[in-house]
Amino acid sequence: MTFPKLLHDPIGFLWEAVNTRGIRLMTYLVLTGLLFASSRFILLVVVLVTLGVMWIRDYQRDGSSKVWYLAAAVALLVVGYGIARWNVENIDAQRISKSPWGQGISLVQDGTYRGAGEGFRGPIEVQVEVRSHRITNISMLEYPDLISVLDSEVAAFKREILEKGRLERPAEPDLYRGSVQTLTGYVNAIEDALSKGIPDYPQYSLFSRAFFGAFIGTAPNRVTLNALAILFAVFVVFEYALQSMLTPGTGRSINCYNCATCVGACPVKEAEGVQMPMGLVLLTRLGEYERVMELSKYCVGCGRCAAKCPIGNSGPMVISAAFMAARKKKEEKQLEEQRGTA
Ligand code: SF4
Ligand code: SF4
Repeated sequence: MTFPKLLHDPIGFLWEAVNTRGIRLMTYLVLTGLLFASSRFILLVVVLVTLGVMWIRDYQRDGSSKVWYLAAAVALLVVGYGIARWNVENIDAQRISKSPWGQGISLVQDGTYRGAGEGFRGPIEVQVEVRSHRITNISMLEYPDLISVLDSEVAAFKREILEKGRLERPAEPDLYRGSVQTLTGYVNAIEDALSKGIPDYPQYSLFSRAFFGAFIGTAPNRVTLNALAILFAVFVVFEYALQSMLTPGTGRSINCYNCATCVGACPVKEAEGVQMPMGLVLLTRLGEYERVMELSKYCVGCGRCAAKCPIGNSGPMVISAAFMAARKKKEEKQLEEQRGTA
């Protein structure tokens, strides 16, 4: 797949991209990261570790320089994290003198403000009204957590705030599942709303917000597990159910698009007039197991074909499938002969 192709044959380029396993997997990861902010950090680590393992192997095999680009990208991420972290700590220190907590409500101007926090099951959003430097009302705009926590812990805390007219630390919540995180998210949402009513409230830099938003996301929660489970299910369905065709009795996929990508990657490329390993796939599909067994001696087992094939076929996998199918065929024949002589 070459980028000049994108210019003169965009549809062919896209089709090739869809048929490339690495690009499909990257698309699943990006979509999951976009939909579920809480999974971003885990996905980033998965991508870096996967690319690291693949490219270190490439480096050991043929001195490929890709691993150095990855190392440079990781170094940039570490530097970016350091800069963003420094900004966040600096701004947090400045915010102490502008905090809307307790008597800090005197800094908040009259108005209605919206704020968000992270609860046990996702984002909590509130709307807070301030009149004459007192909190006069709090409305819940978004709340995905347990209703029992909303009706007990959150309701009690809201009553307390409205009685005092200001934000004070809540008492320890009861041991409802996730109630601590829910209450923390609620408190953070109110604090976020009140801070919008304070003139010159220190703000994080655009860079640190973009960096944490893009690469770290929100703290992993229940939604993270759901997101990763969805990703895994989609991956399994598309890669191993819809994309593949199993050879009966072997449990192995021998589907093939005849794209010849594997031939380009294979150091052998051709043996006895058969393109490697694409020809092995074709012969196996035709049931020519003995021929595949003969040709198997040319495969050096380097695994390059598996890394390139859009559906994960590899020479060793196909050879192994042919050996298993040949043995099964032989056993069936022997059984038939035994039945015939009985
Ligand atoms: S594993 Fe075998 S078939 Fe695959 S690229 Fe290496 S030599 Fe070729
Ligand atoms: S086995 Fe080779 S020809 Fe067949 S789909 Fe995979 S890369 Fe393409």
